[in-house]
Amino acid sequence: MSQVSLFRKWRSKAFTDLVGQEAVVKTLRNVLASGSPARAYLFCGPRGTGKTSTARIFAKALCCEQGPALEPCNQCSTCREIAQGICMDVFEIDAASNTQVEKIRDFIVDKVHFAPAKARFKVYIIDEVHKLSTSSFNALLKTLEEPPAHVVFVLATTHPHELLPTILSRCQRYDFRAFSLKEVEDHLQHIAEEEKLELDPLARQLLARAAQGSMRDALVLLEQAQHYSGGAVRPEDVVQMLGLLPQETLGRWVEALRQGDAAQLLGAVEEMHRGGQDFVRAVDLWVDHLRLLMLTKVGAQEAGLNELHEAYRGALQSQAHNLALGQILNWLRGAVDLQQAIRDGQPARISLELCLVQLCAPVAAAPAAQSQPAASPAAPALEALTRQVQDLHEKVKSLMLAPPARRPEPTDEPPRRPEPPRSEPTPPARRPEPVREEAHPTPPVRRPEPSREEMPAVREEPPRRPPTPPPAKPAVELPNGGKAITQAKEFWPHLLQSLNDRRLKAMMMDAKLRDFSPENLTITLPSTHQVHYEYISRNVRLLEEVSSGLMQSKVRIEVTMDGAQQAPVLEQEHESLVKKASGLFGGRILDAANDTGSD
Ligand SMILES: [Zn+2]
Repeated sequence: MSQVSLFRKWRSKAFTDLVGQEAVVKTLRNVLASGSPARAYLFCGPRGTGKTSTARIFAKALCCEQGPALEPCNQCSTCREIAQGICMDVFEIDAASNTQVEKIRDFIVDKVHFAPAKARFKVYIIDEVHKLSTSSFNALLKTLEEPPAHVVFVLATTHPHELLPTILSRCQRYDFRAFSLKEVEDHLQHIAEEEKLELDPLARQLLARAAQGSMRDALVLLEQAQHYSGGAVRPEDVVQMLGLLPQETLGRWVEALRQGDAAQLLGAVEEMHRGGQDFVRAVDLWVDHLRLLMLTKVGAQEAGLNELHEAYRGALQSQAHNLALGQILNWLRGAVDLQQAIRDGQPARISLELCLVQLCAPVAAAPAAQSQPAASPAAPALEALTRQVQDLHEKVKSLMLAPPARRPEPTDEPPRRPEPPRSEPTPPARRPEPVREEAHPTPPVRRPEPSREEMPAVREEPPRRPPTPPPAKPAVELPNGGKAITQAKEFWPHLLQSLNDRRLKAMMMDAKLRDFSPENLTITLPSTHQVHYEYISRNVRLLEEVSSGLMQSKVRIEVTMDGAQQAPVLEQEHESLVKKASGLFGGRILDAANDTGSD
């Protein structure tokens, strides 16, 4: 067995080695043929799709002693130095670990004007560029404005939508796509053959699916499996190694859900817990399984079903046969919400339990439109379930709001607050999740529900948003027996209460409502709260949807930073509103300004 990891060993060294990014390669070669590269390139795409490898090949091709050439020679000293990461003129910077402005200044601003030591160009490859701090960005931007002719920047990111428009506009953009299951499988097969490794087809597929479109992850997993099995890699090795839920288990979950058997599902969760199962991964698999079930039900063979192992395809077919499409969609929606909730930091196990029990009790909560499972549980069982759901919900909430408070709530609040007049948790009240920030490649989860608004795959942070169609029905449960809210002081706490995204909610607590009319709201933030401003702006569609539901009219929201020239409508009321809002959802007031997260 070789000492070098498979990933390093099989890392692409030339454009011809790159799998699946033909469009990018073709354009880059045209650039090289022209002999005059642009000053800055932006490589966007999910992780593990070859952005950094491509950047390195591009740098080699630009600087190669035999070039500039359409392919690096990989023989000359410059090519070899770049490959080893010791070239004096090619700088690879991982923005995730160089977030201080001094480092960037050191790497770029101060040295950029010196001519290259040896190569034709100075190439700066900045990985995960969206992770640069604002001040580092500004330093970079200054250089991008007037870069010297001998400098080429290659910025790589999984989160292009987090980049400032000023950066985007100065870069030539290249989009790397996630790999299909088949491409990953083919590549694994190729490497297994070259490495003389026996790889079972089902094991290969399990590895490829776990890699979720990332070739790098696939190779790392293959290597792990090779070590784990100590020889031929069989499916059971991969299942054990990855802590996968076997397909049969997922099939049993589906059946239990169909029968509304919450007890069996909670038992399964307990079993997983005892078995040391990773709940986060289990939820990912669950989402993936339900998505495939949906594809099976609508007969979307071309959407990837054809690439599945035959046995698994058969199992999906027989499960889908007994289910209504509405049922599958309902479960999938619940599972995707669950996945997002866990990513937002909610505790995995209890969230999973909550979700499963909720999905088992559609009779209690769902409107008539929801399709019913074949067997309806009896009324007392339902009542018990509903209570269980409420308990779980309370637990999740108390865990969510547990972080240390900077300003503890005055003690005049009774510790046990009266039950608020709402009828959660009902599936119809589920709101669309905030715009997904994560761009990790989870192809199975990407835009799974037709009912949700399609988000553009990549958002450019335009100052103006395309108009949102008015919601057909209120997205939120309305207080006051369904009456629209018309008062600002009533509206604000309800809006806060309706937000699922904990971070958004915390940030909104620092915002103020400046204009309040039936159609237009202006939310304003102190001029010091740039991070809040950006985050809230990104989620403005969600806020519009929730607000439209609360006010029962189509509401547009503008988010502004405080220029301090106007007095907010609710200036004086704000403090008490925050308190009231926190009372409504049982939290303590956090100093949200200091809680903007670590990213
Ligand atoms: Zn060379």
